[in-house]
Amino acid sequence: MPEIYLDYNATAPIHPEVLEAMQPYLTEKFGNPSSLHSFGREAKVAVEEAREKVAKLINAHPSEIYFTSCGSESDNWAIKGILWANKNKGNHIIISKIEHQAVLETCKFLEENGYSVTYLDVDKFGMVDPDNLRKSVRKDTVIVSIMHANNEVGTIQPIEELLKIAKERNVVFHTDAVQSIGKISVDVQKLGVDLLSISGHKLYAPKGIGVLFIKRGTKITSLLQGGNQERSRRAGTENVASIVGLGKACEIAAQDLDEYQDKMKRLSESFLKKILDTIPEVYLSGHPTLRVPNTVNLSFNGCDGESIILGLDLQGVAVSSGSACSIGSLEPSHVLMAMGVPKHLTLGSVRFSFGRFNSMEDVEYVTEILPGIVEKIRNLHPAFAATKNN
Ligand SMILES: *Cc1c(COP(=O)(O)O)cnc(C)c1O
Repeated sequence: MPEIYLDYNATAPIHPEVLEAMQPYLTEKFGNPSSLHSFGREAKVAVEEAREKVAKLINAHPSEIYFTSCGSESDNWAIKGILWANKNKGNHIIISKIEHQAVLETCKFLEENGYSVTYLDVDKFGMVDPDNLRKSVRKDTVIVSIMHANNEVGTIQPIEELLKIAKERNVVFHTDAVQSIGKISVDVQKLGVDLLSISGHKLYAPKGIGVLFIKRGTKITSLLQGGNQERSRRAGTENVASIVGLGKACEIAAQDLDEYQDKMKRLSESFLKKILDTIPEVYLSGHPTLRVPNTVNLSFNGCDGESIILGLDLQGVAVSSGSACSIGSLEPSHVLMAMGVPKHLTLGSVRFSFGRFNSMEDVEYVTEILPGIVEKIRNLHPAFAATKNN
């Protein structure tokens, strides 16, 4: 049986060159970057070189790159840190309804603690309307946080337009770029954002490493107090090996971006076309073109997503329903609900997310077995059979 992984938006394997770059820092080069001796200096140099590589990928200055423990920490830090540093300005936050849990749950927590949150609607493609943002900004709005690309459907937000509105009103702008980094060009100067989150494991680096880009001059309170690592803004001895790995992953992403995009487009477009040609009543969620090129979220009428996932798993193919974080819950995806996808279709949704180590053979295999799996599930489902016979 083949082993085909089509769940790169949940996590990606470590790139072999990334692992190779990391290995010495897990063994002989074990120094603490804060130590003055040669072991420490060697580790310090490695961390700073990695910082430069991350900065280069997003067109930032190295001093604007802060290493964190994950994308979730970066999101938490951005939002809480900006609110705490701007207490005199107000307590209002604006986010979209389709943010990742790391942003949504942070805002829910803040709401329970006296802050006020506006959740912006999205259209049927998952797009935030800039006019909605304009209407929602208040005198006491401190931060807007809107993700760059969505993890479930891949829709890319008009960040530059949204940012302009925030800037007219002097509001700090954060974007979660975990799903766009390495997939499309991410340039902090061009986007103009004040803060941007990155996670290692969606980019072929290890799990448990992230970055928060903080534009020079941005006032932000620290989440972690302690030693003076990361220019005294984020305490904790650096995860040197993972930082080195993330640096390498960013270097590879910068080199390969065009080629990577072409490949993702070829795989996902060919996959989508074959599925739409061979299976009736399948619907694509997400923007038809303004979408990261690796993500295809499909709803199969008359099926539940879980059955399709298990059916594919039995034949060696790994996919997921919406967000991995809500696994085991039969709650419809908050992203699809916000996009107005009918409830029965949200429950029949499956996310196929391609990545670096997929091939056209993978697409062929999956598109061959999927029609049979779907048909079997539909035949077991009387409601769908009834509509078919009408
Ligand atoms: C995976 C993900 C995160 C969380 O990153 P972790 O490193 O797993 O904490 C945040 N935002 C988005 C959009 C993601 O896809």
